[in-house]
Amino acid sequence: MSLWRWMFPEGKKSEECPFCVLASGSVEGRTPNVLYQDKHVVVFVDRNPSAYRHYLVIPNKHIKSVQDLRPVEADHALVSRMFKLGKSTLQRDAPNASKYRFGFHKSPFNSVDHLHLHCIALPYNSVWRRFRYLGVGWLGAYVSVEHVLLYLDPKKGMKTGVTSGDQPKVPI
Ligand SMILES: [Zn+2]
Ligand SMILES: [Zn+2]
Repeated sequence: MSLWRWMFPEGKKSEECPFCVLASGSVEGRTPNVLYQDKHVVVFVDRNPSAYRHYLVIPNKHIKSVQDLRPVEADHALVSRMFKLGKSTLQRDAPNASKYRFGFHKSPFNSVDHLHLHCIALPYNSVWRRFRYLGVGWLGAYVSVEHVLLYLDPKKGMKTGVTSGDQPKVPI
């Protein structure tokens, strides 16, 4: 096992998207760890928490990864909503946490090919866990939600990222 793979033990592909099953609310897909759901998003507890509190927020709609988002109002509004809900849920459940972190793993470092926002209340469970959530701008495997929102803001244009063709992608 390479060091890289060990640090990022994600990237598995599955035929059936487990997060779509979860969002559909079907009996098999629903776990007792769902904290909140409305017609746009689901908030639930990460089954392998990396920190004191570790939640995931997903859109009900299947979007593959953060690289598939576009700097348009709908995507900006969706990520803003995911961030707002993740933040308020963490603040409710871990009001005394030293710090909060919010961000996305970029493909192929994401565990599931369905957009999910990691919402973390520190401290981390181990020193090594923090390396999975180190944001180094667009170049790393992980990108903070603040960075993504800046990129997706239609009013700001795409000054923060590189674009190509008429379908700009979040730069890798
Ligand atoms: Zn899905
Ligand atoms: Zn992830």
